Amino acid sequence: MTHVIELTGAARRYAAAGAPALGPLDLTVAEGEALAVTGPSGSGKSTLLNLVAGLDRPSEGGVTVAGTRLDGLGEHALARFRRERIGMVFQFFNLLDDLTVADNIRLPAQLGGTGRRAATARAEELMERLGIARHARAHPGQLSGGERQRVAVARALVNRPALLLADEPTGALDRAAGEQVRELLTELHRDGQTLVLVTHDLELARACASRTVVLIDGRLAQDTQGTRSEAVR
Ligand code: ADP
Repeated sequence: MTHVIELTGAARRYAAAGAPALGPLDLTVAEGEALAVTGPSGSGKSTLLNLVAGLDRPSEGGVTVAGTRLDGLGEHALARFRRERIGMVFQFFNLLDDLTVADNIRLPAQLGGTGRRAATARAEELMERLGIARHARAHPGQLSGGERQRVAVARALVNRPALLLADEPTGALDRAAGEQVRELLTELHRDGQTLVLVTHDLELARACASRTVVLIDGRLAQDTQGTRSEAVR
């Protein structure tokens, strides 16, 4: 089985003394899994997401994502890895309001060296698929929260990432828009996209995730797959 994520004894300390904020942790995520990461505030969810995204490096242990060993990479190589292999969706969308919807979606492709014509075709395909084609020339500020999050998902998918990471993707949305984003992520999972969702939204975890882990004080307190619930330590 191909693992998209493989953490071996990975830990992150923010201070030399004291317990690590995360780990040491062993965790593998297979291709096509949709993993929800839950747990109380301060339990290490963002720290884990940052390690997997290549935004941060572990203090000890190994982090391999999509076949690339990240813990030894320098800033430049990490940035390139993120651009080529990772899609990220945030609670507050993080779109560029000076650009149109189409340009926001196209930008990561062009930054990655895809030509304008191919990037435009890919953006159009995604806008059609996500139901936002009619907003192509609008600016994100003119759209509803739910529409903005669909633009953010399209942008995250433009380079066909090995891994889509979402940090509280429904956290800033009203009920109906949250439901649409849940459905969209569930559909992406069904299509085979490997997903990691950090969320307090239990409905999102239930609807979309094939597996849920609970972090407590930086440790894996629970790892539930399908209908099987398994307490870890
Ligand atoms: P969560 O995302 O579950 O709320 P975090 O990963 O943000 O948890 O934080 C885990 C622990 O690490 C917390 O105790 C937090 O205070 C600490 N922490 C997170 N980021 C930093 C940082 N940049 N510097 C120092 N401590 C941090």
